[in-house]
Amino acid sequence: MASDEVLARLQAYRQNDAPTHGGRVLSYVYDHGMPELDELAAQAMRMLQPVNGLDPTTFPSVALMESDLVAFGRAMLHGPRATGSVTSGGTESCLLAVKAARDLWRARGGVGRPRLVLSTSTHAAFHKAAHYFGLDVTVVPIDVVSGRAPAAALVAALDAQVALVVVSAPSYPHGVIDAVVDVAGAAADQRIPCHVDACVGGWVLPFWEEAGGEALPQWDFRVRGVSSISADIHKYGYVPKGASLLLFADAELDLARYFAITDWLGYPVVNPTMLGTRSATSLASAWAIVQTLGTPGYAGLTRRVVDATSAVVSAVNEVEGLQVLGERQGPLVAVATDESVPAESRVDPLLWTAAAAKGGFVLQGQPAMTQPDGTRVPHTAHLTITPVTEGLLGELLPVLVGAADVVRGQALPSPEALSHNGIPDPVVLADGARAGGDLDLTTVLSLIEALPREDSARLLSAFLQRFTAPRD
Ligand SMILES: *Cc1c(COP(=O)(O)O)cnc(C)c1O
Repeated sequence: MASDEVLARLQAYRQNDAPTHGGRVLSYVYDHGMPELDELAAQAMRMLQPVNGLDPTTFPSVALMESDLVAFGRAMLHGPRATGSVTSGGTESCLLAVKAARDLWRARGGVGRPRLVLSTSTHAAFHKAAHYFGLDVTVVPIDVVSGRAPAAALVAALDAQVALVVVSAPSYPHGVIDAVVDVAGAAADQRIPCHVDACVGGWVLPFWEEAGGEALPQWDFRVRGVSSISADIHKYGYVPKGASLLLFADAELDLARYFAITDWLGYPVVNPTMLGTRSATSLASAWAIVQTLGTPGYAGLTRRVVDATSAVVSAVNEVEGLQVLGERQGPLVAVATDESVPAESRVDPLLWTAAAAKGGFVLQGQPAMTQPDGTRVPHTAHLTITPVTEGLLGELLPVLVGAADVVRGQALPSPEALSHNGIPDPVVLADGARAGGDLDLTTVLSLIEALPREDSARLLSAFLQRFTAPRD
């Protein structure tokens, strides 16, 4: 294909993509609303396009950019001696935090299977890490009212098998900051590392209070016992996808993150992260944007997030039949049904999400879940508030209110009705979604709630396998 044809084809492929800019999608994308930053990122990426991040001794620019970002993170997260890396994203940062803790646990004489302690609101990336790296997992239920796992329950799960305890600042599902001080302190008393997953909060909470937001509990390296923190630059750092910062308080734990090997026939291998050869483009664009924004830039953007978040929270709490869930702090909002009003006044958040989509705003549905102690966490609609949300409030708030009016009193189909015909064929679902360019997410989430967990996980894999396969 000629290059103009190639680009035309690519443009056509993009046709059904969700909008990345403008604030109409309230998850996945973090729009700063400054086109000049996109241009700067593109130029930086282009400059580093041919470089291989595998070997910073051959390409020292990689080490220089990375150490500048680590230095910024040290100041931002109050760990003046912290060390770490820029990884490809939050999942990789979480995987490496677990890998480091596991290897340190073994080096200190741990025998048998190491264990990870977390809560039901901890990001799925830690379950993935346990699966990949052979750890058992203890899952502590959250308190359904506060949205926070009780510190005492997390601490009670600590023992000699525990390689790492994980807390979030804030949790992705409900935007609630965990009891970092209590959990990290108790872990430190037992010499157990404590990871703070600040993947989503790490680049916005540090500026929150100064930007006029509510006072926050301490959650960063100032807290005794916090041994590592993940903070995604590609979320509230507002850089292109492919960049997260992983910092360790302690050099011994940090070193356990590395993989090095000399007994094979090729070049000596020393990898600080999961990948071997790696692109330097996202590192370069992250570096460029962080240098440009600096602390004042992030503080200014955070001010807009603070204002927009409080406007959205107030508006939603005014809507009859809906309520904001949990003792949330920061820029994430989870909305549940207000069960205190009569059934005919209640609003189901998944139906609300579908109605808001018709009004041009994409919220993210989150399925209900029964916790290990039998308590049920309801399904919710998730909103990630960004700087551009502020400029859109005049459109967004009426849509949120109007969508509730449309679906008030309606109930979702019962789980029994949905699972009546057994598990739907993922091939049929995928072909339908690809042909139509959209997918009925309300049904997908209801199925996840109705089916046994293993069945729904298998269904999702088979669905995506088909969705991404070549068309024949
Ligand atoms: C986004 C997120 C992750 C995973 O990050 P990815 O960049 O999507 O891989 C982990 N933890 C939390 C709290 C997150 O919000």
